[in-house]
Amino acid sequence: MEPRHDRYDKMKYNRCGKSGLLLPKISLGLWHNFGGVDTYENGKNMVLRAFDLGITHFDLANNYGPPPGSAEETFGKILSQELSSYRDEMIITSKAGYLMWPGPYGEWGSRKYVISSCDQSLKRLGLDYVDIFYSHRPDPDTPLEETMMALDQIVKSGKALYAGISNYDPEQSQQAFDILKSLGTPCLVHQPSYSMFNRWVEDGLLDVLEKNGVGSAVFSPLFQGLLTDKYLKGIPEDSRAAKAHGFLQTSQISEEKLEKIKALDLIASERDQKMSQLALSWVLRDKRVTSVIIGASKVSQIEDAVGILESPELSMEHINRIEAILK
Ligand code: NDP
Repeated sequence: MEPRHDRYDKMKYNRCGKSGLLLPKISLGLWHNFGGVDTYENGKNMVLRAFDLGITHFDLANNYGPPPGSAEETFGKILSQELSSYRDEMIITSKAGYLMWPGPYGEWGSRKYVISSCDQSLKRLGLDYVDIFYSHRPDPDTPLEETMMALDQIVKSGKALYAGISNYDPEQSQQAFDILKSLGTPCLVHQPSYSMFNRWVEDGLLDVLEKNGVGSAVFSPLFQGLLTDKYLKGIPEDSRAAKAHGFLQTSQISEEKLEKIKALDLIASERDQKMSQLALSWVLRDKRVTSVIIGASKVSQIEDAVGILESPELSMEHINRIEAILK
């Protein structure tokens, strides 16, 4: 089936830092629910619906699954079977940093690992190049120059169009930006976690990004699904927290957090939003956030997320009330 002709009518696109690239305000990540253990048909329906809604940016990494690598295979299959003529309308990313294969070259930041991992990702995706290739985490034992030179080579050899970093703290980020700039491959984007329950980026990282003209694509804006109404009455069977391979631990769902979510949910209703929508609008209130990378287990969750584009921006009154609840 062809993608919808009106797919660009509602989505809004933000410039990624000071680059030429626009990213949709809402991006789709394939960390959970697109692995070999998941239903292919559901993954395919989510990707196609996202694309129909103007989501052009799909975020992957070598290890997404389970098993590791299978999310890239799933996405590669969807691309080749359904979207092959739309490659130039899509931003597809991958990363290397976490454990991917056994032995001393299967994780972290050596040139050996980063470049081989990129080659493996391209094979699984069935692509000649990804749009953005990231160093997924800083490596305390590899010189930063080595990791950044690997990213630079990946870009210069045409395997990626842009370079990015993820999970680097403000100081490491500044050093990485300086090295990449000196190599002639400026860093396009940083990918940090950010949500109402996880605000570390406010302590310096967003300032460093702004100063360097680097964009931000922030992950887990719903704190893996906790910042929704789904856990208010217990842990539903089909939720991430209930799944053996889900990364959301039940120990992260405390009474204190649930009380906050109940209070936030009231503000959401005043804005005719769902709790999940308020959480996304709140992250995007900061203009230094280029895009929120959401995860989804169902098509309706992607529709909920894109629904925020019809809501007004948060008022100062609501921002202040949210601040008081989160304290
Ligand atoms: P979110 O915080 O958006 O959590 C997504 C999960 O929340 C969904 O899978 C679903 O879980 C639940 N959810 C979503 N919408 C709703 C809704 N409307 N109502 C109820 N529940 C909802 O993001 P993720 O943690 O999934 O991360 C998003 C992406 O970020 C990843 O796919 C990946 O691309 C990237 N990422 C990057 C990392 C990095 O180190 N760079 C690390 C982690 C993520 P369910 O229905 O199963 O309960």
